[in-house]
Amino acid sequence: KHARRGTVMLYEIARSAAAEQHSEIIMASTIREALDRQRLTLCAQPIAPAANTGSVDHYEVLVRMQDDRGEPVMPAAFIPAAERYGLMLQIDCWVVDEILLRRAHQVAGAGFHFSLNISAEALGDSGFQRHLIEMLEHTPIPTRRIGFEITETAMVNQMDRASEFVASLRQMGCKVALDDFGNGLSSFSYLKAFAIDFIKIDGSFVREMESNVVDPIIVESIHQVAHRLGARTIAEYVESASVAALLHSIGVDFVQGYHIGPPLPLEQLLYVGTQLENSGRMELG
Ligand code: C2E
Ligand code: MG
Ligand code: MG
Ligand code: MG
Repeated sequence: KHARRGTVMLYEIARSAAAEQHSEIIMASTIREALDRQRLTLCAQPIAPAANTGSVDHYEVLVRMQDDRGEPVMPAAFIPAAERYGLMLQIDCWVVDEILLRRAHQVAGAGFHFSLNISAEALGDSGFQRHLIEMLEHTPIPTRRIGFEITETAMVNQMDRASEFVASLRQMGCKVALDDFGNGLSSFSYLKAFAIDFIKIDGSFVREMESNVVDPIIVESIHQVAHRLGARTIAEYVESASVAALLHSIGVDFVQGYHIGPPLPLEQLLYVGTQLENSGRMELG
């Protein structure tokens, strides 16, 4: 009886693992199709100075996908499959080309600072590295207005190849941020290995900052380390005015989250940016 029950359990586990694998295979082909048929889109989410959450000139670019029925698919649903099937490189390439090449004049005209996420796969790929450097050399967008967000996990996997590349991005004038800081492995060794411009404090320490006694201590400590190393801090997942105020009182430099603003379609933002620039020109003229 016991043996049978055990067998059933093993079967259940095997079946759910197989089902998961199957759905990842389907997701991978949805991603390939989306890449082929231009069914990726971009959103941008504001990052505001903690001292004045009303003034925004910095946005994080976030990718979105549509499935074959035109339904939106969020990164949480497709990035695991993209990572497993080696598709993150193509996704990041598409994002880079979209911002630095295809929409570059619009992006340059809007005058904002944009940060792009780079996956571990792309970060360690020498073809991607060359491509990105070349794009940066030719884009009409000033490189000081372009930033890259790299997760600790990306750094772990690609430490050697990443460090030189990160240094060359900074030499070209781009800003580099360590994303989701505190949520990965041995965060501090990255601070030792790379000079960076921003540390993004992982949302898991921010979201419940008011009700949790440990979170504010962690946030403050990360902030102090960052400042002593000459980097500035950005807190993610800022969902209320009171958390934004608490972060400001700790000294955190920038805030990002639903309280400041959700990710919006990039076209919408570029349209507003272009309108602003035109009206500015008209006033000057
Ligand atoms: P991330 O880089 O840490 O981006 C922040 C994520 O948190 C975004 O999710 C954003 O929509 C979400 N978020 C922002 N504010 C709040 C808030 O107040 N509360 C909560 N609960 N969530 C908030 P999204 O767009 O679904 O992206 C998820 C992750 O996927 C990103 O995390 C990033 O690691 C990855 N990703 C997104 N776009 C790209 C891309 O173009 N390339 C690469 N390599 N990764 C990307
Ligand atoms: Mg990010
Ligand atoms: Mg993040
Ligand atoms: Mg995060």
